[in-house]
Amino acid sequence: MSDCIFCKIIQGEIPSAKVYEDDSLVAFRDIQPAAPTHILIVPKKHIDSVNALAPEDEALIGKMFSVAKEIAAQESVAEKGYRLVVNTGAEAGQTVFHVHLHLLGGRDMRALI
Ligand code: AMP
Ligand code: ZN
Repeated sequence: MSDCIFCKIIQGEIPSAKVYEDDSLVAFRDIQPAAPTHILIVPKKHIDSVNALAPEDEALIGKMFSVAKEIAAQESVAEKGYRLVVNTGAEAGQTVFHVHLHLLGGRDMRALI
């Protein structure tokens, strides 16, 4: 997707603070962090949102959670707790239409949902 900001990050056209990369996923720090640890886990394959997932994406989505677990440990938030969020659609607050998993940690989030 030529106009997708996350595809541009994946292709190295826009800089990012990467914390993880493999053949199918990349993870980088959110540019406007909502918590001390705020990392986005993003598939290299462009998928607009959860609404556009196909059955063949199931392994990829599962891997996003496995990588989130590893990054949570790396960022030292695994023990205290962290939140994994996927916004889907405008009303949920999705602003970048390339599916991604937010990993949020390092502050108390119990007052929120
Ligand atoms: P969402 O609202 O779930 O679509 O989340 C999109 C997230 O991408 C927001 O938290 C933005 O702060 C973040 N974001 C947008 N542009 C960039 C960028 N260039 N580098 C890192 N994070 C970004
Ligand atoms: Zn994209």
